[in-house]
Amino acid sequence: MEHNSSNFIRNIIKEDLESGKHDHIITRFPPEPNGYLHIGHAKSIILNFGVADEFNGKTNLRFDDTNPVKEDIEYVNSIKEDVKWLGYEWDNLFFASNYFDEMYKRAILLIKKGLAYVDDLNADEIREYRGTLTAPGKDSPYRTRTIEENLELFERMRSGEFANGEKVLRAKIDMASPNINLRDPVIYRISHTEHHNTGNKWCIYPMYAFAHPLEDAIEGVTHSICTLEFEDQRPFYDWVVENCEMPNVPRQYEFGRLNLTNTVMSKRKLKQLVDEKFVDGWDDPRMPTISGLRRRGYTPEAIRAFCHEIGVAKTSGTVDSRMLDHFVREDLKLKAPRTMGIIKPLKVVITNYPEGEVEWLEAEINPEVPEMGTRQIPFSREIYIEQDDFMENPPKKYFRLFPGNEVRLKHAYFIKCEEVIKDQDGNVVELHCTYDPETKSGSGFTGRKVKGTLHWVEATHAVPAEFRNYQPLILDENGEDEEQEEKTFLELVNPNSLEIFQGFVEPNMKDVQPQDKYQFFRHGYYNVDPKLSTADHIVFNQIVELKSSFKI
Ligand code: ATP
Ligand code: MG
Ligand code: MG
Repeated sequence: MEHNSSNFIRNIIKEDLESGKHDHIITRFPPEPNGYLHIGHAKSIILNFGVADEFNGKTNLRFDDTNPVKEDIEYVNSIKEDVKWLGYEWDNLFFASNYFDEMYKRAILLIKKGLAYVDDLNADEIREYRGTLTAPGKDSPYRTRTIEENLELFERMRSGEFANGEKVLRAKIDMASPNINLRDPVIYRISHTEHHNTGNKWCIYPMYAFAHPLEDAIEGVTHSICTLEFEDQRPFYDWVVENCEMPNVPRQYEFGRLNLTNTVMSKRKLKQLVDEKFVDGWDDPRMPTISGLRRRGYTPEAIRAFCHEIGVAKTSGTVDSRMLDHFVREDLKLKAPRTMGIIKPLKVVITNYPEGEVEWLEAEINPEVPEMGTRQIPFSREIYIEQDDFMENPPKKYFRLFPGNEVRLKHAYFIKCEEVIKDQDGNVVELHCTYDPETKSGSGFTGRKVKGTLHWVEATHAVPAEFRNYQPLILDENGEDEEQEEKTFLELVNPNSLEIFQGFVEPNMKDVQPQDKYQFFRHGYYNVDPKLSTADHIVFNQIVELKSSFKI
């Protein structure tokens, strides 16, 4: 697999192997199973699995399931499916909750070394005592408890004697440290909650900042790659590994997280969109989740190419989401069969075409890939064109159909608009046209030229189909920023992000399968929706439009 040169983590790993600092590497992808994966996670997956693949290393899929409250097996299953779909295989599948015994032992070791204590302050008091960036914190009155007292109290925490929040275990480091993360961080809390893996065995759970370095060390991870917001946690990460006397010493490296324009990615916000029914589930085609992108019709190849292009840097920035669209077009250009579909049908009767006759025209499936062969499309006296391809009173330089004008029908003949049929309210309901048999596509006709080429579908054989066109779900060019308030975020939801049309496709499309992808002439790329399509009702999701002003 190709790797973008602007990947500083890859360079670190390369040097570590060349210098002999490591003779093998182990990375991990450590999602918390509290939601579905999104395109930001894809960046992390591609980075972790990508470097391991390149340097013959290993990658663990590890569920960081140390917080029993928000986690669910539904998420575990979706994460596995999404990682596989992106094209990766983990070497080991681990659950952080399987290390609870080991973590508990390490916490006791810290207590015995005088490096951890049980604190009775409540959450608000702990925050108050912690101080600020400019003011040092102050010691908790419980900080001087003896080792024996701490061992006894921690054991009583574990055995369930105390209520949630009544006591915590804290690392004993330095309440005046300039790094607030080192001001005696909490490492264990009480939570009388059943865990999806360990059931009711535990009522104390390790905090993320304590658990994560231990998980990495237990697995022998060499390069623990995480996003930039954990940079200030790195000193505590190293403190835990060292003071818990872990035999393996992993190192943490931070990279800039992916943000996309017109997209929110925090799982909390995505869950809110799902729970409050702004979308039809985590896999709604407008969602930036992997399952949403899959259902929309994005391909793993396009997502990987996109992630390689954006590279891995030590800063985060917001990437134009049209760049992702660019890569899906690039990927589908040669793969997707071309076809014609009418999204907003307007009936056209070709008055000089013999009634009851049908001829079958041959059309290339993809002119850029002749090996894909040809398809047969019927032509007869009645066809559908797009409502938007006709104007009764066109402006100058309008080359599509209008009274008296002649256009080319793709793969067929020239037709000329002779008569406009309207209903009582004056709406155009049908056009009467004539065709010129001399102009048949492929016949080499050069007698005269027309400027417009329209797509069309023969009416008597047409297969009804639903088309779903999408606009960005979030009306925010800046993408997500950490401060974005929950309320403002919901106000940014685009009320017009989904448009549904009932149209027609060529008869050879009647047996399309879920996830089949096509390029509809002039409309763009579409995917057969796997959730809504049935044997007699095909639903197409627009993946991307055909063209974009966006340039890489
Ligand atoms: P959220 O804050 O949305 O809940 P998270 O970071 O808590 O996301 P995790 O399940 O903990 O989600 O993430 C698993 C891995 O994916 C982590 O290593 C995390 O750093 C990485 N990751 C998450 N979001 C992004 C992103 N936008 N860009 C790059 N990597 C990301
Ligand atoms: Mg999280
Ligand atoms: Mg997070």
